Amino acid sequence: MIARQQDFTENLGELNHIYERIAKIGQDVADKILEIYCLYQISSTLSGTLDLHASVKVFQNLLKDVLKMHGFALYMINESTHELEYTHGFGFNQRSIKQLLKKLNQGTFQSIVPQKSISIHSSVLQKADSVGLHRVHLDSKSTYLFYPIISELEEPVGCIILFRRFPHQIPPTQINLLEKVCSQFARVVDKILIYHHTRELSITDDLTQVFNRRYFNQRFEREIQRALRYNRPLTVIMADIDHFKSVNDAHGHFYGDEVLQTVAAILDRNLRKTDILARFGGEEFVVLLPEIDKYHGMKVAEKLRRAVEKYPFPKGAPGNEDKITLSLGLSSFPEDATSGEVLLEFADKALYRAKTRGRNRVVMYQKNGATTESFSTRYRLAAAGTRR
Ligand code: GH3
Ligand code: MG
Ligand code: MG
Repeated sequence: MIARQQDFTENLGELNHIYERIAKIGQDVADKILEIYCLYQISSTLSGTLDLHASVKVFQNLLKDVLKMHGFALYMINESTHELEYTHGFGFNQRSIKQLLKKLNQGTFQSIVPQKSISIHSSVLQKADSVGLHRVHLDSKSTYLFYPIISELEEPVGCIILFRRFPHQIPPTQINLLEKVCSQFARVVDKILIYHHTRELSITDDLTQVFNRRYFNQRFEREIQRALRYNRPLTVIMADIDHFKSVNDAHGHFYGDEVLQTVAAILDRNLRKTDILARFGGEEFVVLLPEIDKYHGMKVAEKLRRAVEKYPFPKGAPGNEDKITLSLGLSSFPEDATSGEVLLEFADKALYRAKTRGRNRVVMYQKNGATTESFSTRYRLAAAGTRR
C-alpha cells in the first residue's frame, strides 16, 4: 500500500514536471509567435511603403496594442541643423517631450555606455557597438527604455524612447522582444532614409542643389505631352553666365563654384514653385515654365536677368567690379515648335544671339532667324514700370 502511494506521488511529481515543461514550451511558442508576428509586421511595411510616417504608424500600433507600452517617442536628427527633433510618439505630453529632449541633449543617456559619447550633435548617439535597448532610470514610477538608431554607415540617425508605468514590470523575455522589434524598426528607418536620400541625389545637381539635366529631360518630356494634350502654352529659357571662364581665371575655381551656387539660388528665388529650374551643364541653366506663353516668358526671363545683374557679388567678371551677368534665350510651345528637342535647340539659338549681341540680355527665338532681335533692351524701355 505504502509502495503504491509512493509510486503515485512519484508519478504525480513527474506529471507535474511534464506539465511545467509543456507550459514552458507553450509560453516559448507563444513568445516566438509574438516575436515573428511583430517582426513580420515591421519588415512587411518596407515592401508595402517607403513612407516613414506609415512605417512609424505600424511600429506605434505594435508598441501600444501588442506590446502594451504606455509611451513612445521618436527623435530624429535633422539633417541641416544636426539637432535631435521629436517627430512621432504617443503617451507623452508636450512637457515630457521637451524634458526628454533636454535630457538627451544633456547626455543623460550617455551614462548607459560610458565609453561612447552621446552628446547630441550627431556624434552624440551611441556608436554601433553600443546599439541595443537600455533601461534608463529617470524616475521611480516608470521604466524608460532607450534605443539609438544607427545607420549602416555607423552614423547616428535618431533614437527611440519607450516607457511603461509601474507596477507593470517588463519581464526579461519582453525586453528581449522589444529590443528585436526596435532593431528591426531602426533598420527600416535607415533603409527609408537611404532610399529618399539616393532619390534626391539622383535628381539634383550636387553643387547647386537645383534639378539635374537628366531629371529635367524626363520632366520636360512629360510637360510637353501635357501641353500638347490640353493645348496649353509652355516656355523654355536657356541661361548662361557671361564671361564665366574669366571669373574662374581671375578669382579661382572655388569662387567660380560659389558664383554658380549663388546664381542658382537667385534664379530659384525668382521663380514660382511650378517652374522647373535645372543645371543644364557647366555654367548653363535651363528653366521650364509650364502654362507660360512667350510674352510672359519674356517677362520672367527679364526678371531673372535683372535679379542676377543687381546682386552684389563679392567679386565680378574682370572689368565688371561686383557684377555677374546672364544671357538668356527662350522659345515657346506651340508657336516655335511642338517637340521638346527642337524647343531646346531654338532656345539655345536665341541664347547664342544674346551672346553675339553683347550679352546680359534676353533674346527670344523667332522663326526668321535673320530678324531675331535683341529684345531685352527694347523690352526694358517698352515695359518700364510693368514689372511681373
Ligand atoms: P560666355 O560669356 O561666352 O558664356 O563666356 P564663358 O567664359 O562664360 O564661356 P566658356 O564656355 O568659354 O567658359 C565656361 C567656363 O565655365 C569654363 C569652365 O571651366 C567653367 N565651368 C564649367 N563648369 C564649372 C563648374 O562646375 N565650376 C566652375 N568653377 N567652373 C565651371
Ligand atoms: Mg556656356
Ligand atoms: Mg558662359
